[in-house]
Amino acid sequence: MAQKTPITVAYGDGIGPEIMEASLFILQEAGAQLDIEVIEIGEKVYLRGNSAGIEDSAWESLRRTRVFYKAPITTPQGGGFKSLNVTTRKTLGLYANVRPCVAYDPFVATKHPGMDVVVVRENEEDVYGGIEHRQTTDVYQCLKLITRPGTEKIVRYAFEYARAHNRKKVTCFTKDNILKMTDGLFHKIFDEIAKEYPDLENEHWIVDIGCAKLADTPEAFDVIVMPNLYGDILSDMAAQIAGSIGLAPSANIGDHAAMFEAIHGSAPRRAGQNLANPSGLLLAGVMMLVHIGQGDVAERVHNAWLRTIEDGIHTYDIYDERVSKQKVGTREFAQAVVARLGQKPEKLKPVSYQAARSDAFQSRVSPRPATKKTLVGVDVFLEWTGGTPDDLGAALQRVNGDGLELTMITNRGTKVWPHGQPETFCVDHWRCRFQPPGDPNREVTHQQIIALLQRVHDAGFDFIKTENLCNFDGQPGYSLGQGQ
Ligand code: NAD
Repeated sequence: MAQKTPITVAYGDGIGPEIMEASLFILQEAGAQLDIEVIEIGEKVYLRGNSAGIEDSAWESLRRTRVFYKAPITTPQGGGFKSLNVTTRKTLGLYANVRPCVAYDPFVATKHPGMDVVVVRENEEDVYGGIEHRQTTDVYQCLKLITRPGTEKIVRYAFEYARAHNRKKVTCFTKDNILKMTDGLFHKIFDEIAKEYPDLENEHWIVDIGCAKLADTPEAFDVIVMPNLYGDILSDMAAQIAGSIGLAPSANIGDHAAMFEAIHGSAPRRAGQNLANPSGLLLAGVMMLVHIGQGDVAERVHNAWLRTIEDGIHTYDIYDERVSKQKVGTREFAQAVVARLGQKPEKLKPVSYQAARSDAFQSRVSPRPATKKTLVGVDVFLEWTGGTPDDLGAALQRVNGDGLELTMITNRGTKVWPHGQPETFCVDHWRCRFQPPGDPNREVTHQQIIALLQRVHDAGFDFIKTENLCNFDGQPGYSLGQGQ
């Protein structure tokens, strides 16, 4: 008998315990070799006063097993509770969120028969660093961070996943026509890494039109990789239009650990009634078995599940008298799947994981390139309400000197000095660019910037932050103002 793989299991809240029990019953009847450690997370832990919803002892289990099979939890209403999912992802470095969105027509109603898309969402970066500041009376800011290593990891993961699962194409969604540096980097790295996978097609879509196309013609896509925020929104959309939000699983994968769960929540109103559909969690269990190298068991479970769906044995949420044969509860559904272990679907496409390599793929990032960084100026941000942009320009020119002079002022990214347009609406937040006179590429020192800030302060201005302007190997590492 194969060695058992240790996994950590949380039964969660609401319908969680019922669907976890049903899912584990099926996995174990199918022959999964699991050594289960149970931890408590969620509502009870939150209400004991632990704002993270998870105890230290649970982290120890997760560090030991590195595999987390998690039922949905209830986040108590009211402030102060941290999202357990975000905490788990960040603490365990789960950088890839993988969400297969599949239509099961004609057995489950869907607007998109044949849809079979996997959304691979970057899970740690982008605006999810949560680095936000109120900078002025009018203006709030959130930092969007896209990194070279983080992007390499997720893009390579998407291509590796596509290869391991016999997929044909990887598509990238970004908004790099506007976010030329952050999303521009994501797109550039996608193009670089795509060259390492000549056996797979690749393409890029601007996220807005790509999203419209995905909602309209999902069969045009296969695996789609994207930054965190777009992935958050689009993966829910994709699961919903597949018609199967209650059936959709997700995997959160990192180098040191992985977490598998359904995408739905704890549905408290359905709890304890033997009504809930365990399919999302069960299919997450299938992803987990592939991940831990028990692909043969994963295949038995998945094919038996497809056969159950095809045989019209449905829980209330997908029951439709035109195609369903029997409305069953959670336990009966699980028994129906177990009764079909060893069978394959006849109309739906059977799955094969025999050849699938584990998704436990060790990410790789390129060595940090040697880069020549040159400081060439500074953007000083001010809170100011003292008049027109020309008034500000005139006042700030008086702080010119010591090799730095005012070259541009923008408001919300639009150039308003010199030669602004009177129609431009301005708020109390000004970006004031100082560069060496005559040559924007001449090197300046940090000392010059500190001295400039002192002069700005002495002139009575409230500076709220600075951003250094740097060239990297001679290329500007900063955006130009719109209107330039
Ligand atoms: P939900 O997904 O729990 O429920 C939405 C609807 O779908 C409900 O009508 C519910 O009855 C139905 N539903 C969901 N799963 C089902 C299943 N397996 N079988 C049958 N019907 C199902 O979303 P919600 O009501 O917005 O959230 C409830 C709680 O779950 C909240 O506390 C929320 O914070 C939490 N939540 C947790 C997770 C997680 O743990 N990953 C994810 C989302 C929401």
